[in-house]
Amino acid sequence: MSFTVAIDGPAAAGKGTISKAVARHFNFGHLDTGLLYRAVGARMLDGVEPVAAAKALDARDLDRTDLRSAEVAQAASKVAVIAEVRAALVDFQRAFARRSGGAVLDGRDIGTVICPEAEVKLFVTASAEVRAQRRFLELADSGTTYEAVLADVRARDERDMTRAEAPLKPADDAVTIDTSALSIEEAVAQAIAVIEARQQG
Ligand code: C5P
Repeated sequence: MSFTVAIDGPAAAGKGTISKAVARHFNFGHLDTGLLYRAVGARMLDGVEPVAAAKALDARDLDRTDLRSAEVAQAASKVAVIAEVRAALVDFQRAFARRSGGAVLDGRDIGTVICPEAEVKLFVTASAEVRAQRRFLELADSGTTYEAVLADVRARDERDMTRAEAPLKPADDAVTIDTSALSIEEAVAQAIAVIEARQQG
C-alpha cells in the first residue's frame, strides 16, 4: 500500500532534516527531489544543455560529490524554471511517491504539482535570516560570509517563488511548520504528529 508525504518549502528551512527523520520513523522511502535539479544544474555547468541533461539523467549523476555546493544550488534554481526540465523529472518522482511501503518526497512543488493527492502535505518554512544563519554554520569552513549566504538564499527564494512553472507555495491543504524558533526535535515531532493523525483517519 502506498502513502505519500509531500514536504515543500524554501532552501534551508529544515525540509531535508525533517524528511529524513520522518522517513526513518515510519520506515518510508525518501527522495530529496532537489538533488534531481542539482544534478541537472551540475550537468549544465559541465556544458550540457539542461533539457537534454534532464532527459538523460542517470542514477550516477546523483552521486556526484559537488551537488551540495552553492554554485550548483544556484544552477539548480536556474534550470528549475525551464518547463521541459521539470516535465522530464515528473514520472520518476511520481513513481517513487507511489512505491509500496510509503514515501516522503521533499522539494518545492511536491504537494502542488507532483503529488496533489498526497495523504499528507507539509510546508516547512523559516525566516530568511534564520535559514541563512543555519546554512552559514554548515558552510563555516568555506570562507564565505553570512551576508553572502543571505544574499544567495534570497536570490534562490525569489527565483523559486516567482517562476511561472510550479512556483514555490504551500498547497491549499498543506500544514505549515515554521521552524524559525523550533529545535530539530520539536519540528520533527510536529511533522510526525500530523502524519500519525492522518494515518488514524
Ligand atoms: O532543495 P534544494 O536546495 O536541493 O533545491 C535546489 C533547487 O532545485 C531549488 O532552489 C529549486 O529551484 C529547485 N527545486 C525545484 N523543485 C523541487 C526541488 C528543487 O524547483 N521539487
